[in-house]
Amino acid sequence: MSTSLTTVAYLGAAILFILSLGGLSHPETSRRGNLYGIIGMTIAVLATVSGPQVTQQGYAWIIAAMVFGATIGLYAARTVKMTQMPELVALMHSLVGLAAALVGFATYIDPSASAAYQGAEKVIHDIEIYIGILIGLVTFSGSVIAFGKLSGKIGGKPLLLPARHWMNLAGLLTVIYFGARFIEADSVGIGMTPLIVMSVIALLFGIHMVMAIGGADMPVVVSMLNSYSGWAAAATGFMLSNDLLIVTGALVGSSGAILSYIMCRAMNRNFISVIAGGFGTGAPVAASGDAQPAGEVIPISAIETAELLRDAKNVIIVPGYGMAVAQAQHTVYEITKLLREKGVNVRFGIHPVAGRMPGHMNVLLAEAKVPYDIVLEMDELNEDFPDTEVAIVIGANDIVNPAAQEDPASPIAGMPVLEVWKAKTSIVMKRSMASGYAGVDNPLFYKENNRMLFGDAKKMLDEVLGALKA
Ligand code: NDP
Repeated sequence: MSTSLTTVAYLGAAILFILSLGGLSHPETSRRGNLYGIIGMTIAVLATVSGPQVTQQGYAWIIAAMVFGATIGLYAARTVKMTQMPELVALMHSLVGLAAALVGFATYIDPSASAAYQGAEKVIHDIEIYIGILIGLVTFSGSVIAFGKLSGKIGGKPLLLPARHWMNLAGLLTVIYFGARFIEADSVGIGMTPLIVMSVIALLFGIHMVMAIGGADMPVVVSMLNSYSGWAAAATGFMLSNDLLIVTGALVGSSGAILSYIMCRAMNRNFISVIAGGFGTGAPVAASGDAQPAGEVIPISAIETAELLRDAKNVIIVPGYGMAVAQAQHTVYEITKLLREKGVNVRFGIHPVAGRMPGHMNVLLAEAKVPYDIVLEMDELNEDFPDTEVAIVIGANDIVNPAAQEDPASPIAGMPVLEVWKAKTSIVMKRSMASGYAGVDNPLFYKENNRMLFGDAKKMLDEVLGALKA
């Protein structure tokens, strides 16, 4: 393929990626957005593979790598559960980071690549390599730790080393110092030492940054690492002089940063301190299950729940992680349909960090074919709880915890929550008194107007559905 044809193909792919992001911003258009992304990526891969930089001998390697990668990708996509998605995403980010770092080393070692640059161009090229490897390795080690934390292989408690900010600062200054040594180096042999020193610091920084983050703050970290992986890819694009990789990396980098910002706002965290690392450490968050229940709760049966729902005019359903675990979304929709047929106004309230990944609940409800117009964001319906007869919480915990508003010492203090306790009656559906992801007790359970429907969400909802039909 000629260079100009490759450029046209890259341009087309870049436009498709932008359309894809636009499409993914709403559930109704998300399938189309996905399709644009798939077509764009296919064009990008084909154009790159048939481009002038690939030689005949390279094809065997490329085909072998594609078959290997596609097999793993296909296997992962088919076997990984929706609730494990953030772990998978973290693992994928680590690969992007590692790839950027390896490309950086390969570019530096490649004699033809270094011979092509002289004077100021060489300095710029060296800076690209240095920054590319730096971001790549921070992303790599940070994402591996994020994977460990999300999958429970590493504890959720933040690791707070003494003088950790000073350590980070010292690391940064050392990286700058060795960056200058690297640029000055006039041979690969001399330049390799500062590069390796920086690589070790970058790996340690990535580990330290994510280890210092409390369990409840992990969603923001995952989306931040997503952003970092985008910038790592953009840096690779500069190293390889590949315009499409620069554009795609910048799109991922900036959209990840915007998502992190939105999530920070949703969790009332400071965006700048997230970027600087060590976020979420002001009040250490206990690991899941650490909280001790306090007070008395009032249980309710499925039949009584059905009666309350039948008599209500307005019902708000708040789904959380437990609905995903129980795969109760289809039964939830059966109940919704039945109630709507009886004239009950049923709506869903979605918290921005409900479940274990952004948009988790929207995906499940869309899968169950719940109409989009009754699925509302937290801000759109939080004021409606006082006019609601029944608020039913399905496997959610942290996102409906009043301690976020009432207890300034709570690890989740300041996080906006769905105010279900303001409804006439709130019903919480969960299996036990165990705490949620943030590991904090929930005073909602002990409120006078709250009822607990204990059991697996799917099983209990089946019973409620049965009682409603009877
Ligand atoms: P939580 O993790 O706070 O609570 C989920 C509740 O579901 C648990 O208390 C559990 O209680 C219950 N549950 C589990 N399985 C079942 C089941 N089969 N049937 C019924 N109930 C069940 O979830 P939320 O959605 O309220 O909050 C999300 C949390 O996850 C936040 O802290 C957020 O910061 C964090 N997070 C969010 C991410 C995102 O991007 N959305 C990513 C990573 C973390 P029990 O065991 O008693 O049944």
